[in-house]
Amino acid sequence: ATPTSIMVGTGRAAEMGVLFRKGDALQRLTGVRTVAFDKTGTITEGRPDLTDLHLAPGFGRAQVLGLVAAAESASEHPIAAALMRAAAAEGLPPAQPEEFDPLPGYGLHARVAGHRVLVGAQRLMAREGIETAPLAEVEANLARRGRTAVFAAVDGQLAAVLAVSDPVKPTSRAAVAALHAQGLKVAMITGDKAETAEAIARETGIDTVVAGVLPDGKVEAVETLRNTGPVAFVGDGINDAPALASADVGVAIGTGTDIAIESADVVLMSGDLRGVVNAFAVSKATMGNIR
Ligand code: ADP
Ligand code: MG
Repeated sequence: ATPTSIMVGTGRAAEMGVLFRKGDALQRLTGVRTVAFDKTGTITEGRPDLTDLHLAPGFGRAQVLGLVAAAESASEHPIAAALMRAAAAEGLPPAQPEEFDPLPGYGLHARVAGHRVLVGAQRLMAREGIETAPLAEVEANLARRGRTAVFAAVDGQLAAVLAVSDPVKPTSRAAVAALHAQGLKVAMITGDKAETAEAIARETGIDTVVAGVLPDGKVEAVETLRNTGPVAFVGDGINDAPALASADVGVAIGTGTDIAIESADVVLMSGDLRGVVNAFAVSKATMGNIR
């Protein structure tokens, strides 16, 4: 393609809300074999709501939800917003933790009203020596329904399993189908557990799931997918920035974090993943490779 046709192509893409920050990304897109998506905030809305709260014996709902919401008030994770909204909706007064340690990929540790509070994934509880067996089956069932279930522990004792549900964007399924129609492999990379991720993958028609990935692990997951050819990675979060930079083509959601946008080659003006399909269409047309 000539410099002029690349200019025309990036101009056409911009009219569709797809901004090419780097002209050569238009060319690199034509070689891509796999499109890998982040889950939360990319495939899903990124605005989960509390759907379930199962207590361990000896604990009360207001007590646990109050402690958990206070602990989460210092967190920026979408799960935190869900739990704080739920506590407010149940009339619990907002409270702040005395101490707060975010544990990326695991959850958090906090001190609230003198209590030691842990909220997070099974691997956090395992690391802290908290027995989750009494609520493990409840957690597994919630995950199989596509919900993200987290455990809460208070003063070293398992207190509850809480689940949040993050709706899939209405257009995600159509975007995946359109990518498949072009012969591309479509993957999901997420820190969430396999059962939850697989339920979301079924709902959207995604064929390959890489789950349980720690924040540092997304680059490695992209590298593995590259064994079968060039990879485009699509994401919105701070955690996604390294993978956006290391993928053959990084695509950021324009409504996402600044660091994701700065790390990307292509930026979608809206959260609609059909923008990725448009990016491929323009790239093929520009490179004279229309199928
Ligand atoms: P993702 O972006 O897929 O949510 P993260 O690495 O941010 O991946 O989190 C992985 C897992 O760690 C979450 O699915 C959840 O189980 C747990 N987790 C992380 N942050 C929190 C938090 N603030 N509250 C509760 N659980 C959390
Ligand atoms: Mg995300």
